[in-house]
Amino acid sequence: MCGIVGAVAERNVVQILLEGLRRLEYRGYDSAGVALIHNDDLNIVRRIGKVKALSDAINDENGLGTTGIAHTRWATHGGVTEANAHPHVSSERFAVVHNGIIENHKSLRESLTAKGYRFNSDTDTETIAHTVADIRKGTDTLLEAVLSAVKSFHGAYGTVIVDKHDPSTMVVARSGSPLVIGLGIGENFIASDQMALLPVTRRFIFLEEGDVAEIKRESVRIIDANGNDVEREVTESNVEHDAGDKAGYRHYMLKEIYEQPSVIRNTLQGRVSPDGVASDIFGRGSDEIFAKTEHVKIIACGTSYHAGMTARYWLEAFAGVSCDVEIASEFRYRKSVVKPNSLLVTISQSGETADTLAALKLAKESGYMSSLAICNVDGSSLVRESALSFMTRAGAEIGVASTKAFTTQLAGFLMLVLAIGKHKGMSSEQEQAILQGLAELPSKLEETLALANEIDDLAEEFSDKHHSLFLGRGDQYPIAMEGALKLKEISYIHAEAYASGELKHGPLALIDADMPVIVVAPNNELLEKLQSNVEEVRARGGIMYVFADKDAQFASDETMRVVNVPHCSEAIAPIVYTLPLQLLSYYVALIKGTDVDQPRNLAKSVTVE
Ligand code: GLU
Repeated sequence: MCGIVGAVAERNVVQILLEGLRRLEYRGYDSAGVALIHNDDLNIVRRIGKVKALSDAINDENGLGTTGIAHTRWATHGGVTEANAHPHVSSERFAVVHNGIIENHKSLRESLTAKGYRFNSDTDTETIAHTVADIRKGTDTLLEAVLSAVKSFHGAYGTVIVDKHDPSTMVVARSGSPLVIGLGIGENFIASDQMALLPVTRRFIFLEEGDVAEIKRESVRIIDANGNDVEREVTESNVEHDAGDKAGYRHYMLKEIYEQPSVIRNTLQGRVSPDGVASDIFGRGSDEIFAKTEHVKIIACGTSYHAGMTARYWLEAFAGVSCDVEIASEFRYRKSVVKPNSLLVTISQSGETADTLAALKLAKESGYMSSLAICNVDGSSLVRESALSFMTRAGAEIGVASTKAFTTQLAGFLMLVLAIGKHKGMSSEQEQAILQGLAELPSKLEETLALANEIDDLAEEFSDKHHSLFLGRGDQYPIAMEGALKLKEISYIHAEAYASGELKHGPLALIDADMPVIVVAPNNELLEKLQSNVEEVRARGGIMYVFADKDAQFASDETMRVVNVPHCSEAIAPIVYTLPLQLLSYYVALIKGTDVDQPRNLAKSVTVE
């Protein structure tokens, strides 16, 4: 969500900033802007819409500066207008970019207005600019001013501030929104995500909560939350991904759908063998913790929440350990009771999801035995703040609608089921069934991807629809939820998911020929029940699209189109059946002409509450 790039150098930095913004585009945004300091002038260029609109507006006159900051905004306070786009300026001198939310912006605005500061935007961010400007009147340096200013900000932020009278310096502050310093030779950089800086450096310092840093061309000074100067480790990035590379696919989402067999192979590599799951793959000491675990509490948002919902079925059925799953934004604002010897599991692709992080912090204070993060980004806040962790190894996921991150999370959960199950008396037949399922998973996914043309065909029938219903039972119910979410996210068709046994308790009233019903029907013990639910829909004139095992005995007719999904074992069926639903939403979105990789109003990693 939203992006920050900044640079202090000897050369003109405008192209570095624009390329950085392009690399952050995938995270979702609605406007973009840049501030450049040149010959004691502050040049601001802002545009609503894409980074392309911003770069088109930059020319030889306004595009010069050896120090600069840039931003892609995802509006939280104030509409999507040029005036609300960042950077924001105070006193014609200070420019600020900001990710996150300043929660006490109203009271700050009132007191700053009373002091004579004029606001040019409706954003919370502008209060940062004026607060720093105001405090700077009584300090010797910008660093001192920012150190003092952050004390008055409540909320989450990553922010970068420059002063045109001190063009050699950027001051940055991190509280709840990630920032990474990129180290160059005679030049230094800042960004909200290392991806933005990969063309200029591979050496990074990840700032920690509460850090404020002064970045100059030749030096970096970091002051921690307690006000002490600190040295932070310099890490050499081994991220291979080039965000500009779609590898010949039309969209990142399609590329990422097709990457699933190989990234799942990576996820499994060295972690499972025919003998079982390797010990401590969830972190040192995890085996002892799992031996003591009597309850698993899973907390996540969005797609990751659906992974957790699926895992609940598995943990209880296969590992015999009780489990409940909760949406992070709910958990963090309610009083809850912690069961004895509970393991807290959080899930997030980016590891920076604000609600999940806040839930983790809260849970750590409330008596959970231990915490485990399932995450795709090593070194992310969620991983650092959890006792145990499991990296999904999905590689950078650029499409806003999550695909490979989800299926690798599920593969990780099957390994967690094995790791916990071995302490809970899981039978060796059950263990072998999961292990065999995992061993055949990559090839089953490859076979399933071969359904793409058939699904592309079927997508035509959705192009004029406004509503749809997804049905599943048991561990396929969360897969139906995930399928509905994908369709909503990228095709903007209203989609709801129901456990199919719930149909007659309400949603059956919606059924008519205009409301496609999508059914996931592997050949499991709930098949007969599901077949009855299908008949309930048919009897009411509903049109169905059934993704079914060929042995499930569904046949296409005028009310039903059946797509046969490769036969697979029970444990991995939720992962296998996810792929046709991803492809369906992708092809429907193509027909509808939506922005598949950056759907409207959405952002990739939701770093605000
Ligand atoms: N709250 C700020 C705004 O609405 C920053 C949003 C963002 O993180 O992009 O401008």
